[in-house]
Parts: sequence; structure tokens; C-alpha cells
Amino acid sequence: MPTTARAEQSNSHHDLPIHESVLLLQTDPERGLGEHEARERETTFGPNALPQTRPTGPLLRLLRQLHHPLIYVLLVAGAVTLLLGEHVDSAVIFGVVFVNMIVGFVQESRAEAALDALRAMVRTEAKVVRDGVSRTVPSERLVPGDLVLVEAGDRVPADLRLVRLSELAADESALTGESEPVVKDEVVLPPATPVADRRNMLHSGTLVTSGSGAGIAVATGAETELGEIHRLVGTAEVLQTPLTRKLAWFSKVLTVVILFLAAITFAIGVVRGESGVEMFTAAVALAVGAIPEGLPAAVTITLAIGVSRMARRRVVIRRLPAVETLGSTTVICSDKTGTLTENQMTVSRVWTPQGGYEITGAGYSARGDIVDSAGEVLRPDTMPSALRWTLLAGASCNDAALHHDADTTTVVGDPTEAAMLVAARKAGLVDVPPRTDTIPFSSQRQYMATLHTPEPTRPNQHGHVVFVKGAVERVLALCGAELGPTGPRPLEQAAALRAAENLASQGLRVLATAVAEDVPAERFSEEALAGSLVFTGLQAMFDPPRPAAASAVRSCREAGIAVKMITGDHAATATAIAGRIDLLDGSADGKVLTGAELAEISEERLPDAVREASVFARVSPEQKLRLVEAMQSRSEVVAMTGDGVNDAPALRQADIGVAMGRGGTEVAKEAGDMVLTDDDFATIEAAVEEGRGVFDNLTKFIVWTLPTNMAEGLVILVAIFVGTALPILPTQILWINMTTAVALGLMLAFEPKERGIMRRPPRDPRRPLLTGGLVARVLLVSALLVGGSWWMFQWELAIGAGLPEARTVALNLFVAVELFYLFSCRSLTRSVWRIGWFSNKWVLGGVTFQIMGQAALTYLPVMQGLFDTAPIGLESWLRILGVAALASVVVGVHKRLFPQVL
Ligand code: ATP
Repeated sequence: MPTTARAEQSNSHHDLPIHESVLLLQTDPERGLGEHEARERETTFGPNALPQTRPTGPLLRLLRQLHHPLIYVLLVAGAVTLLLGEHVDSAVIFGVVFVNMIVGFVQESRAEAALDALRAMVRTEAKVVRDGVSRTVPSERLVPGDLVLVEAGDRVPADLRLVRLSELAADESALTGESEPVVKDEVVLPPATPVADRRNMLHSGTLVTSGSGAGIAVATGAETELGEIHRLVGTAEVLQTPLTRKLAWFSKVLTVVILFLAAITFAIGVVRGESGVEMFTAAVALAVGAIPEGLPAAVTITLAIGVSRMARRRVVIRRLPAVETLGSTTVICSDKTGTLTENQMTVSRVWTPQGGYEITGAGYSARGDIVDSAGEVLRPDTMPSALRWTLLAGASCNDAALHHDADTTTVVGDPTEAAMLVAARKAGLVDVPPRTDTIPFSSQRQYMATLHTPEPTRPNQHGHVVFVKGAVERVLALCGAELGPTGPRPLEQAAALRAAENLASQGLRVLATAVAEDVPAERFSEEALAGSLVFTGLQAMFDPPRPAAASAVRSCREAGIAVKMITGDHAATATAIAGRIDLLDGSADGKVLTGAELAEISEERLPDAVREASVFARVSPEQKLRLVEAMQSRSEVVAMTGDGVNDAPALRQADIGVAMGRGGTEVAKEAGDMVLTDDDFATIEAAVEEGRGVFDNLTKFIVWTLPTNMAEGLVILVAIFVGTALPILPTQILWINMTTAVALGLMLAFEPKERGIMRRPPRDPRRPLLTGGLVARVLLVSALLVGGSWWMFQWELAIGAGLPEARTVALNLFVAVELFYLFSCRSLTRSVWRIGWFSNKWVLGGVTFQIMGQAALTYLPVMQGLFDTAPIGLESWLRILGVAALASVVVGVHKRLFPQVL
């Protein structure tokens, strides 16, 4: 009855014995809720999600757009112009401020919405038991009463009263601020126990750092402790990166310099006896002209476009700086399992002290047979004991589950374990003895052990059965004997290791299994197991390399990026797989290091050793951190993948932490800068490519916009120094800057990536944004603009045109040069003829828009009134076009002469 359950939805079950909680929540601590009941409760309780925090109000966000040094300058200019009675000028200036505010607001909202949508793509899932079957459901669908399974790396999806646990600890800092993991147990606690000390509960939003457990959801959504304190984990993304910060600083310094120059201009003019009003106008013109208004917006928009392009390639950016850093990546460190390989395990070989066997069939379907070396198909009753125990251990010491639909089988849990379940099913071993305790798998421990009630087929057995599976060396180290045809006999470790090495060198992942019988339950601990286990055999599984891995590795190499495989797997398996994906460049000599070897290498020698190696095997997550630091000490920009809880420090330390969206834990996703939604290595390569493209486009915008600003400032300065009329007025400058930034410059953000972008070396992050060659190009175009506009202005006056007409010519010249130059800037190295004039539709649209704008500005009386323009004749247009075309040719020649500008 959901209503009763609703009345009881409360997060304080810590003071109740488990059976009372179960009764109150009308659930079952073994079988969980029924699916039907769960669905009903879902309608009663609503989704298990926290209410959204109230975002900043739109008015405040709009006003925030005014908080910019440039806007202050404009506001002051507008106010003074108003006081001076120049109503039209001040209206234009305020109009520009308004447009700027709206554009900034819309862009910021869109970028934030895009980032929010991306975050939502990384959906959290929860493991629940319903109707006695474990399954994965989206976290929002959890309801009170659900039996939830958690293990190391999970984010706790609701407030849970623990009913079973093994070595369970959680990081509750999100809730309590306490950074040390809290060890959990099942004891009933006094009612007054504060949240931070409720050891028998797991709280929503906290992270499981070790062990595993099961708990009943006592509260979901807003009713959880997290919901009550109403604090969302993870703060909103700030749209800032090192680059945007650098640019913000640059524009502040620029503003100060420009204000200083403007003040000098004003002073010189006034000393010379010019009217104060006119000189103020000139100073304003200089200020608004020289400041690149469009720059901050263009940077944010280009980055945001980069983020959505990456999303299309299955990369979710969690921290915006990653977009920039990706372009500079020099080393990618990748996990093997699941990233370079498919993580689709199939056990194909079994080796036991009694003989070797093959298992036929592929994938997770149970179709297949166990075949001995004579080609004989084996059945449970004809199976040698070691084979039977090996398969049974694999299936019993196992947390995975297989769900069969009409013709597909889905895996819940670890594919390695699922493969072992399938192998046992192929042998006809379906029933496993009930489990009573677990020592969970962890990457450091490298094995897992389970305790089971005695087998019913052996009535005279009193103690429990222990099954162990894990990395070969680790399991063998725990064994004192092996299972021979007539029972346990002394362990022949060398033979087992040889067999494992042989299987691993074929690229197979090898796990050893062991068993102990008649174990008293209280002796189920790591220490007590050591030496008491009987080794039963090896299971070897293949995990095919991902189809695109080899070409992605090659493409990275061409792009000057080193690829390194870092894996917990055996060195021989890792080397064989590395060979298949072309990671070893022909030979494995000196390129493979194991965790044990790494531990021996001194800090001083480490950076060199790490540079030379391509494969790191049997590496513990702690060593990953050491590897990243060693590489960074050589100024490498490191991207590092990770999926487990213990990978978090390395993910944080890396310049780009790459978390796995499918196989990764919530802890890893939280620590990563980006998440791969398909876990595929090739996706990292795609992200690097996009990152390089984004950086290119930013550089293109800057190279395009700076000459105009410099030239506008210079033209005014020269005019004041020479003592002639201004060739362009402040309102006209604002027109140029605002319209061209939006209609022309921004279109560069949509520029497709250039061919050969992955054949360049990575960009050195310490290199200035503009290289010497690009600075020279900016100066060249500025000079052309100053010279061209000055000459045209004087020419028009000389042939008898009025001031408004001459200014209109100068203004149109500025825009025409920018327009031609825009096409040049679409590639910094290649000629526009090679990339094609029409290959970016956005640019064409923008250009059309700008041309219409110029026509309106020149010929519409309203615009003439607002901007002091006047109609100009065909000859003037031809001269304008001539100068603009000339500028375009000069830039083309510069590109030819100095192609190395990147
Ligand atoms: P990668 O780091 O590339 O993802 P990996 O999955 O092999 O490789 P780990 O998960 O750290 O790395 O596993 C290390 C070793 O522990 C494996 O090679 C295997 O021998 C053993 N192992 C892996 N999964 C399990 C498991 N579920 N139970 C027991 N042992 C396991």
C-alpha cells in the first residue's frame, strides 16, 4: 500500500532494526519490491531527483552583462554626450550597450543551457533488486522500499538503510564536509545519532569508496538528507578558462592604455585650442574604436560551439578549460580494458593441473561447449574435478547477472565476471551454492573471495566453501596446493605460471581460481585464507581490440601525441593487445614496464623511463598518479583515462582527466574533465582533433579582429596629431565594430576543421596566442587600413566631397577590407582559393547581411540621420573595392612567404 509507505517515508531509520524498517516500507530484504509495486510507488512518490536550485533571475543576469570595463567607458561616454546635448550620438552609444547586453545575455544562457544538457547526458544509474532479480534502472526511478546494491565507485542514489555489507566505506564530504571515508556497519543506533555518525545508513549523493553492500531505500528525492539541506552536489559550471581569463586581463589592460591615450588626445586638442566638445568626441571615438568589443563573446561562443561539436562526437565536457587544453595534449594514457578493447569478454580456454580445454561460442549467449584436448565434448558428469571446480568458482565468486530477452543477452555488472558465468552455463553448471560473505574485488587486491554455505551434495561437510578468483600471481600466492585427479597435491607454481604466460601472450586475459572446503565462517579473512587455498585452474578470455583503436593510435602518432597503455592486466596480455593496435611501433623491446619494475625505479630516472615505455602492466591506480606526475615533470600535457574510485587522484592530476561514461564509476566521472559516452579510445582522438579546431578558430577570430581595432584607434590619433577632421566618428566606429563582429567575425566560430589538423605537432601551451608571423600579419593589415582609409578620406575631400560623404567612404572601406580579410582568415596558412570561397555557408550568410547593412547605412535617410553618413557614388565604391582587393592580395602574399605561422 503506497500510502502507508508514503506516510513512513523518512530518512531516520538508523534507530530501527532491519526487520522493522522492512515492515514499515513493506518490502523484502532479499527479493526487493515487485516491479508492479515499484511502478505504483513511482507515481506516488515522483522521481528520485532533487528539486532544481533557483537560478539567478534574468534581470540580474542581464545587468551582469554591464559589468565590463568597456561597457563602463561606453556608459560614461553616452552620459557625457547626452549632457552635451548630442542626443543622436548618445542614443547610438546606449543602443550599442543595449545590444551588447542582449547578445551577451542570450549567449550566456545558451552556453549554460548547452552545458546543462551535456551534464544530463551522463545519466546515473542504480542497481536494484526487484522480484528477486538484480537490474539496472535510471536513478530517478528508485522508490522508497527498493533494495539497492552499491559497490565501490558508485554514487549513492537515495538514503539507504544497510541490510548487508562487506568492507563498505563512503565519502560523505558532500553531505557532512568530512573528507575521510566513513566505515559502515549494520548495528542499530540510538535515535539521537547525528547524520554524520549514522554508520548503518548510506546517504544520497555520497560516494562509495570501498567494499559493497545492499540497502533499502528509506527516502528518495527531496526527502533525503541531501534534499533536506538542499545543497546540490557539484557547483554550476563557470564559463571561464585560462584563455578567457587571459583575454579578460588583456582587455582590462587595453582599456587602461586606451583611456590614457584618449585622455592625451583630448589634452593635446584642447591645448591646441580645439573645442572641448569635439575633442571629447574624438577621445570617445578612439576609446570605442580601439577596444575589441566582440572578443569576449566570440571566445565564449567558439568554446561553446566546440563543446557541442564534441558532444556530437560522444565527448561530454565537464570543465570548459578542457576544450582548450585538448588541443595541446602531448600524451594520452589509456586503460586497456574497455577503452582500447571492447570489454566483451568470452572465456575461450581453461587450463587446469589436470589438462587444457577449449570453450566454443562467442558473446554472452550460453550456446557453446567445453571440449577437451581429444576433441571430446564434456558434460558435468564426465568433467574432471579441476575443470568443474574452476568453472564453479568462476560462477560463484561472481556479482554479475545475465538477462536474456528474446534474442539478446544483457550483462549487469563486470564483463569479466559475466564471461565466467557464461562459461559455467556452457558446462551445464547452473546452480551455485548460496553465498554468505564476500571479500570484494579491488584493483589493489586484484582478487575476490566469497564464502558459501556447504554444498547440499556433500552432507557430511560441516564448514563453508570459499571460492577465490583473480590475477594469477595473486591467487597462486594464496594457494598451498593444487587440485590433481585424486585430490589436492603440492602446488606446481612454475607450471601454472608458464601456462598463464602462454595464454596471456596470445592476448587473452587470464584469471586464476581457487577453492577451500570446510572453512569455519569466522576464518573468512584475507590473513586466514593465505596458504589454505587449493588452486583449481585458469580461465582465459578474449576481449577483441576496438575496431577503430589501431587507426586512432596511428593518427595520434602522426599528430605528435604519444599513446601509452596503462593497465591492471598481465604484461603478456597487455603486450599482445598493444601489438595488435599498433601501439608498440614494431617492437616491444624496452617498451613494456610492469608495476613491480616501476616501483624499483628512482624518482630521478622515472621521467625518462616513462617516456620510453608504451605499455605499463599490472599497474596499481596509485602508480597512475606517479606516472602522470613524472610525465608532467617533462612538461608533457597529459590526458589520462580512468574508471575506478582509485583513479580519481590521477584523473585530477592529469591535465585532462578522461572518465568513462559507460563503464566508469561516479567517482571517476566526478573527477574527470571530460566523459566519453562510448568509452572508446578513438573518441579521445576525435576530441583532441576538435580541441585543435576550436583553438584554430579562436586564433582566426583574434587575427581578424585586431587590425580593425588598431587601425580605428590609429586613424583618430593621427587625425588629432595632424589637426584635421576625424575620418570616422565614434558612432560610425561603433557601427563597424558591432555589426562586423556579429555578422562577420562570429562566423569564423563555425569554420570547419582544416585538413591536416592532426598532422601538426601539438600546440605548446606556453606559446603566446599569436606567433611572430601572425603579429606581423595583424600589423600589416592595420597599416593597410590606416593608409587606405586616410588616403580615401583625403581623396574624397580633395575632389570636393563633403565631410559626411568622405567619412562614409572611409567607413565603407573599413568594412570592405574586413570583409575580404575575413575570407583570408578562414585559414591562417592556406590561400582562400584552396579552401574555396563558398565552403563556409555561415560566412556567406554573414557577408550578405553585412552588405545589406552597409547599403542601408549609406542610402537610407534614417541611418544617414543617425550615423552622419551620406550617399556615395559608383566610383567611390570601385576605389573601395580596389583597396580591399589589394589588401587581400597582400595578405595572400604574406601567407605564401611566411607559411609557418602556427
Ligand atoms: P585496465 O586497467 O586496462 O582496465 P584491468 O581491468 O585488467 O585493466 P583491473 O580492473 O585493475 O585492470 O584488474 C586487475 C587484474 O585483476 C586483472 O588483470 C584480473 O586478473 C583481476 N580482475 C579483474 N577483474 C576481476 C574480478 N571481477 N574479480 C577478480 N579478479 C579480477
